Amino acid sequence: MAIEKKQRNAIPEQEPFVRAHNFNEVALGFTAELARDEASRCLGCKNAPCMKGCPVGVRIPEFLALVKNGEYEKAGEVVKSTNSLPSVCGRVCPQEEQCEKNCVRAKIDGAVSIGGVERFVGDFMLTLPPKAREIMPSGKRVAVVGSGPSGLTCAAQLAAAGVDVTVFEAFHKTGGVLVYGIPEFRLPKKLVEAEANKLKDLGVKFELDTVVGKTVTIDELTAEYDAVFIGSGAGLPMFMGIPGENLNGVFSANEYLTRVNLMGAYDEGAITPVQRGKNVIVVGAGNVAMDAARTALRMGAETVTVVYRRGREEMPARKEEIRHAEQEGVRFAFLTNPVRFDGENGWVKDATCVRMELGEPDASGRRSPVPVEGSEFTVPADMVVVALGTSPNPLIKDSCDKLATAKRGILVVDEDMMTSVDGIYAGGDAVTGAATVILAMGAGRKAAHSILKRFGLAE
Ligand code: FAD
Ligand code: SF4
Repeated sequence: MAIEKKQRNAIPEQEPFVRAHNFNEVALGFTAELARDEASRCLGCKNAPCMKGCPVGVRIPEFLALVKNGEYEKAGEVVKSTNSLPSVCGRVCPQEEQCEKNCVRAKIDGAVSIGGVERFVGDFMLTLPPKAREIMPSGKRVAVVGSGPSGLTCAAQLAAAGVDVTVFEAFHKTGGVLVYGIPEFRLPKKLVEAEANKLKDLGVKFELDTVVGKTVTIDELTAEYDAVFIGSGAGLPMFMGIPGENLNGVFSANEYLTRVNLMGAYDEGAITPVQRGKNVIVVGAGNVAMDAARTALRMGAETVTVVYRRGREEMPARKEEIRHAEQEGVRFAFLTNPVRFDGENGWVKDATCVRMELGEPDASGRRSPVPVEGSEFTVPADMVVVALGTSPNPLIKDSCDKLATAKRGILVVDEDMMTSVDGIYAGGDAVTGAATVILAMGAGRKAAHSILKRFGLAE
């Protein structure tokens, strides 16, 4: 049967020249009318190829059909049955590589905007008052380390089954990367707070400003709780190891984004201000680099240049983030790599870079960049942000040497998400290395299921 063409609805956005100067959310989201219209583009395919692309198996055609009929709460319940943070995922999941990539409309007139409709439904659910729920206490207690998406998801699943859960978080706010990494203009912090508050309604307790491995040890937690889940993420930044990297004004993306997002340094009157660079260089080309570059623009930089040793095609960032960055005025220097930073009075002043060309494919199949001899050049840079990836912080492992780790300090788990220590489970970036929100949530959910099985509370 021929499919009647109907173009995908674009999600309304702030104009680039306006948004480049404020921290308000860039994508404004679908209105109810647009969400219903977009949901009506779904063909309700029997084999639902879109679902095969979703790491947590959201029942996509089912929730879209409910939105089409205006049954938003029912749609939200369908989504929330497998994805506890839809307003977050609707905003930050790489749908173009997952569900939307598989949508049959993708090759006809544009995939259904599954993420856009999911975001609408997630936001709608946050407007509803908490439902009184009778939860039978199980008598079991679990400690969750870290309040990122893996920890929050694990805590939510356990609490809903009557487990007494306490989340231990090193920072003074809950949410992990959702609050300290991803900027306000992509993910408003009030949404993350609202999601965490839903957990408090379920009885989950939060111990903030508590560094596991220092304030309290893993051994102390295992002595007090029936099981432990470690969702401590991958917050240890990697550097290039080149001369001048220790100069003032050279930041890891983690530090820069944490200072701006979590410590509120974008506010002129913040008690922990951050340097405001004029000519900023961001090294790397993933989502974190795009976030750092767009943040530097909003902090008043005159020029922000993303320096990447490969080409545009190889950039790992989401296409949407690259488009947004370019529209806002971020510049890109491809096939370019810094080799040295020079400073004055201890502060970075300029960056010396070298041109690169792509050589033979490396182990990952990508052509490896090779420096072009004699191509060095120097550009002014009073601030540099290094966004080259992260690995798990060794603090937890160092405080509990029974925990087996692999390359770059990632925790080793079995198929039930249990570490080498009986009763200690782990998931998210701490196990995979830096990955995605949805994969961290999937891991938290899987670990919670294993813990419930251990307690005889699940099959
Ligand atoms: P985290 O979110 O890192 O949370 C771990 C928590 O544990 C933190 O709150 C940390 O403070 C706490 N913790 C660590 N050690 C201890 C300790 N010893 N004691 C107590 N608490 C501790 N993914 C996407 O899907 N889409 C995106 O657009 C996207 N953009 C990103 C942008 C940035 C800037 C960054 C940094 C990441 C981005 N990601 C994105 C990746 C995604 O955010 C992560 O994969 C995800 O948050 C991992 O979740 P997690 O629960 O494993 O860990
Ligand atoms: Fe709807 Fe696209 Fe999924 Fe088909 S593949 S059910 S059209 S969202």
